[in-house]
Amino acid sequence: MNKILISGGAGFIGANLVKLLLEWEPEWKIVVVDALTYAGDKKRLEEISDNPRFSFYQVDITQKEKMREIWEREKPQGVIHLAAESHVDRSIKDPSPFILTNVLGTEVLLELSLEFGVSRFLHVSTDEVYGELKDKEGKFTEEHPLAPSSPYSASKAGGELLVKAYERTFDLPVVIVRPSNNYGPWQYPEKLIPVVIWQALHRQPVPVYGRGENWREWLYVEDCAQGIYAAFLKGREGEIYNLGSGEERQNLDTVKTILSLLGEKEDLIQFVPDRPGHDFRYFLDNQKAKRELNWEAKTKFEEGIKKTVDWYIKNIKWVEEKIKEIR
Ligand code: NAD
Repeated sequence: MNKILISGGAGFIGANLVKLLLEWEPEWKIVVVDALTYAGDKKRLEEISDNPRFSFYQVDITQKEKMREIWEREKPQGVIHLAAESHVDRSIKDPSPFILTNVLGTEVLLELSLEFGVSRFLHVSTDEVYGELKDKEGKFTEEHPLAPSSPYSASKAGGELLVKAYERTFDLPVVIVRPSNNYGPWQYPEKLIPVVIWQALHRQPVPVYGRGENWREWLYVEDCAQGIYAAFLKGREGEIYNLGSGEERQNLDTVKTILSLLGEKEDLIQFVPDRPGHDFRYFLDNQKAKRELNWEAKTKFEEGIKKTVDWYIKNIKWVEEKIKEIR
């Protein structure tokens, strides 16, 4: 296998993965398909844009005929599917694009993978498909039932169930990963960590949902990309792998850590009304990925958050451009 189609490769996690694969697999050719929605940005791929083993198509994955033309031209032997609408708050305001891309878009990629034949379809799902853990104890194993809370997580669960159905019904060789909350360089500044960094850098109020008591398991984006790569190479057909870091923090602690790294006072924190249906806690049992993929997240939260804050300070112009688009 040496030609891999990556959907959503201009996104936060996808771009990290594309760069990793080009470096670690010198024989592979990478074909990125990405609609360049508000969340996609080719700047994330600038450093590899003239690599002869890399090609890029700006295309919406729900457009089956356009996708078929790309498939006919490129004939990929493997697929890694990351393209998605990914922001929970946006899914609460308007679920429709989430259903289109995350469910219908997934179906288009599955159909074409079946029609042309691929030897591996790696689907990137999320820990949010499990719903919430109601208290500080317990973890989700891969067998835990799906109980998504938001239109985002419901659309991801829908896409994932289709992937499983294509494996069961048509023997499509699929593997699924469910990563926990990612953070790191190049994340679009609507997600918690970049929002906090931007606001604090400008000494503006830092909004925190509810009382900031919700727990999240933070996975550094390079570790996530390595987990996806490991699952693509070593995952057993039809299997699901949690990709968690074990690095759990309450949101308020995360915010306080960032403020302290920036030398800002905690009185910038402003509690705002909680997000509807806000999941209290996610925490993944990681044993299967350790055992079968030999994968484990390497980056401790303290180290990753420092690197992230430094990156945002150095790349403040990029963040500013994005903030202007949002406002
Ligand atoms: P992102 O929003 O940064 O990137 C998504 C990419 O998909 C963008 O480049 C966008 O242009 C592209 N895209 C969106 N709709 C498209 C369409 N219809 N056709 C083609 N391209 C389209 O997201 P991310 O944070 O990089 O997440 C990547 C994947 O990982 C998603 O499937 C997400 O659900 C999953 N995930 C993310 C996290 C996280 O914390 N970021 C955690 C677990 C799982």
